Amino acid sequence: MRIIRNGELVLPTGVVTGDIVMENEVITYIGHITDIPDDAEVIDATGCYVFPGFIDPHTHFQMTNALASTADDFESGTAAAIAGGTTTIINFASPEEGSLKQGLAVHKGRAENHIACDVAFHMEITDINDAVLQEIPAVAKDGVASFKVYLAYGFRLNDKEIYEAIKAIAPTNKLVAAHCENGPLIEALIEELRQSSKLDVANHPNSRPVLIETEAIERFVTIGTLTNYPVHIVHVSSGAGLETIETLRRKGARVTCETCPQYLVLNDSVYSLPNFEGGKYVMSPPLRKAEDNQILRDALASGKFQTVGSDHCSFNFESQKKQGMHDFTRIPGGIPGVEERGLITYHVLVNKHQVDPSQFMKVISENPAKLYGLYPKKGTLQVGSDADITILNPYVEHVLSKETAHTKADYIPYEGINIKGGIAHVFLRGHHVVNNGELINAHLGKCIP
Ligand SMILES: [Zn+2]
Repeated sequence: MRIIRNGELVLPTGVVTGDIVMENEVITYIGHITDIPDDAEVIDATGCYVFPGFIDPHTHFQMTNALASTADDFESGTAAAIAGGTTTIINFASPEEGSLKQGLAVHKGRAENHIACDVAFHMEITDINDAVLQEIPAVAKDGVASFKVYLAYGFRLNDKEIYEAIKAIAPTNKLVAAHCENGPLIEALIEELRQSSKLDVANHPNSRPVLIETEAIERFVTIGTLTNYPVHIVHVSSGAGLETIETLRRKGARVTCETCPQYLVLNDSVYSLPNFEGGKYVMSPPLRKAEDNQILRDALASGKFQTVGSDHCSFNFESQKKQGMHDFTRIPGGIPGVEERGLITYHVLVNKHQVDPSQFMKVISENPAKLYGLYPKKGTLQVGSDADITILNPYVEHVLSKETAHTKADYIPYEGINIKGGIAHVFLRGHHVVNNGELINAHLGKCIP
């Protein structure tokens, strides 16, 4: 038996001081204990917040795209996750030889026995045909968290295909999410930039301006509305993107959305840094203006975003990003961030916006659990729930740095950011895996289901 004593417990109803008992991987008691059994391990949480383990709904570990393979595999990616207080990640699985079932099996195989936190999967739909449509109910039954479609990249779906995909997914009650950028227009803009030899990294954001995002959001939500099924927008990057969603909501559209830490604390000034430093920040959508950071922070604080995902998709700067030094279209897109997501979001919401810790808990844990079918096993401190618990000390101050990070990438995009609040202890299904800030067991993760 393990007992967390005298912590500030962040419950769905608010913060209360109390104790939590964990036994056989679940929470067995929440309240005030008077008699401590002799054989109990006691963790003093006085003055610390006790959260349900954080859930990152957006990671790409051990992935290979047209340009490169990610720096992080499941082993290092999940170690980084749990060191940052995240006890469950939901990773993207792509079809294998056109088959969703095979794709799910392959991705699960890569993860199993190599993971430090629990892992669930989203299934990407990159093609529409009879075989794929028939497999959708089967992989839903196998427990995928959601389905995702892309409006950009070579594997995007067109509007009719997206409509057909949502229609096929609706009976499974799984969420349908989309990467919202207009792919054909990005290709047109890149062609133009190429013809005028504007291929240095500073032009990356010019190939994907805000209108590319807002148009795709409006179109995807419109398709969702036509099918009468709710939809979800991942990685909203701009104030205009959020305003598009808010306008559609006012008209009655059912749409939830995610933003990412990078769109809250980093802006597009980095793309003109000397020595190709901007290459470290190439991602899609690109970073926007400092004003956008502010709009998105305010929106997150007022509950307009349901989740914050890291979109962790790590590549090495020296050996991978630099291959696009003279042509930004050759830079593999994406950044690490699974370890820093929880603390950056905490810092923005609780320290800067003075938001109640229970509201932070909702975006970092409860909402993703609910949206992706993991609740109440995950995402809440309740008797009977998995004992996934993150204890955060609100008083320690530290600087984010690659030196202390667990990603295998050779940099972190958040280098030098000062944070008040540190991860003190993490429990994964009752097992003590982070002790006084140090990762002590990185092999206890399981695939869900
Ligand atoms: Zn992504």
